[in-house]
Amino acid sequence: MAESLPWGNFFVTGARASPEGTFHRFVTQRAPDRRTARLSNGREPMARILVIEDEPDLAKILEYNLRQEKFAVEIGKNGEEGLTKARRGSPDLIVLDLMLPDLDGLEVCRRLKSDSKTKAIPVLMLTAKGNEMDRVVGFEVGADDYLTKPFSPRELVLRIRAILKRIRCLCSGQLPERMQTEERLH
Ligand code: CA
Repeated sequence: MAESLPWGNFFVTGARASPEGTFHRFVTQRAPDRRTARLSNGREPMARILVIEDEPDLAKILEYNLRQEKFAVEIGKNGEEGLTKARRGSPDLIVLDLMLPDLDGLEVCRRLKSDSKTKAIPVLMLTAKGNEMDRVVGFEVGADDYLTKPFSPRELVLRIRAILKRIRCLCSGQLPERMQTEERLH
């Protein structure tokens, strides 16, 4: 039975007893991955954020603040454009406004989460003040978090960082490319 226990830069993925009674455990090294790789200077790679927001002023403010925090930012001006950019660019996270002129944010989120290309991308939804129903439905269609307008850019950045950190932790045990090594314990 495979297990996945963090062990420094490695994950233990299995164990067995050999005929001589010695015990081996299989160790999987974390493969370099875009979402989990660290730069040689020890810093996280620049995360790419897609902001789907039709109000130009708000989009600009979000873009400015996220760039200040060293995120790479792309803007989708409506639902369709956002979906296209999400599929093409596979961003690390999507900030999705609920109120959009063509498809509403819930429909965009539903489509993102039902497309194999985009379903793993975390979504932070921006909802109107006090609309609890939007939040509930937002979670139902797969949003990972939400922020109620008006919000401070600082809070947005903190929430984005928290989601990315959570995703990195989840991803690190389930990487597709693994380098198998075997370690003799005794
Ligand atoms: Ca809007």
